[in-house]
Amino acid sequence: MKERPSFPAKLQSSVAPVSKQPISSKTWTASLQAQAKSPQSNRSASGFGLDSETVRAAMVRKLMEQGVEDEMVLNALGAVERHKFIDSALANQAYEDTSLPIGFGQTISKPNVVARMIELLRQGNNLMITGKLGRVLEIGTGCGYQAALLSKVAQEVYSIERIKGLYDNAKENLRPMRIPNLHLILGDGMLGCPAGAPYAGIIAAAGGDAIPQAWIDQLAEGGRIVAPVAGAQGVQSLVVIDKRSSGLHQTLLEPVHFVPLKSGVI
Ligand code: SAH
Repeated sequence: MKERPSFPAKLQSSVAPVSKQPISSKTWTASLQAQAKSPQSNRSASGFGLDSETVRAAMVRKLMEQGVEDEMVLNALGAVERHKFIDSALANQAYEDTSLPIGFGQTISKPNVVARMIELLRQGNNLMITGKLGRVLEIGTGCGYQAALLSKVAQEVYSIERIKGLYDNAKENLRPMRIPNLHLILGDGMLGCPAGAPYAGIIAAAGGDAIPQAWIDQLAEGGRIVAPVAGAQGVQSLVVIDKRSSGLHQTLLEPVHFVPLKSGVI
């Protein structure tokens, strides 16, 4: 019998063994269809019938164990198909808690970092938000995964990317999902995105030495910024900035590793 690859083995004991080679999403879908058609197919007894929903549910359970509590965030992570945003050769790692390359030297963040940041964003103004956030700006669309998640927890999302190739890829990844409240913009996010300002929340997937003034200016009163920022010795930490009537309130949180925030469009 072939060795089990790390992808299903870590998630479910009932998962069927598959090839050790990375599988493309097409192969995966095809094998699922074949399993579904098979007369012997029986989810609970044989473990056949693995689908991405099951794997995402396992990912969500792990996120809960890691301390993510916001139900709307957990539901979003359970619903958005992360494997559709990455190269098919990496699809078998899509639901592991790991960052993955998305081309152009950039990476998609680990699910638990994404969940943590969106949860923080939603806790702005010291409120435990039960409904959706208002308008949100994401700096660094990348492959579009986080933008898709944000569109489920906020009323409207603006997501800006400076690399044309990634902007195009994100558009293609997101098109089949037909998300009406998401706007993708090609531009330099260091300047924010005046089109949607003021924002209830701004979330950055790339880190610079400081929070650009434009983000502060484009944040609504009562709004929150969640972003990685490099401190002394270049160590990045997660920073939360709340804009209140009394002024700006900054909280420094745990160390993180994000790609650099760069200016200009390429
Ligand atoms: N949220 C993304 C993560 C992408 S990585 C996802 O889910 O895939 C961070 C992204 O920030 C990269 O694509 C990088 O090109 C982009 N970025 C860096 N500086 C930027 C800037 N000034 N404006 C817009 N995007 C920027």
